[in-house]
Amino acid sequence: MDHWKDYDAADVTHSVSHHLAAIAQLHQRQGYARAVDVARLLDITRGSVSIALKSLKSKGLVTEDRNRFLLLSDEGHEIVERIQQRRRIVRRFFEDVLGVDDEQSESDACKIEHLLSDEVCRRLKEFLDGRSKRQGKSRRPVSRS
Ligand SMILES: [Zn+2]
Repeated sequence: MDHWKDYDAADVTHSVSHHLAAIAQLHQRQGYARAVDVARLLDITRGSVSIALKSLKSKGLVTEDRNRFLLLSDEGHEIVERIQQRRRIVRRFFEDVLGVDDEQSESDACKIEHLLSDEVCRRLKEFLDGRSKRQGKSRRPVSRS
């Protein structure tokens, strides 16, 4: 029953995951990311961004070049991709299976995307894939025997 303690100790906190995703998004959108851009995108102060960046740099997830442009390390990239994939799977479950609306689905997926284990994600994906396969079949006329 001590599992809750693991969450705080996890390498990827909620805040970390969003900072990394913001840097990735800025690179995609404008080709570079500075602390000021991250602050604007996440709608937080420069001060909290620089505290977060200090920790991201010490974990080796982000580097900063001479001109103060931020880059994700390979590990940082991996984390962003993993979390985005989880978010897609969780949202698919919320929306397709539970019928949750868009906004609620996005907000709840955001809360758990960084906490799910690989194992649960994999099984959730298998469940969803199996479900859409079954639904594909059920669209065919059912013959009664
Ligand atoms: Zn989130």
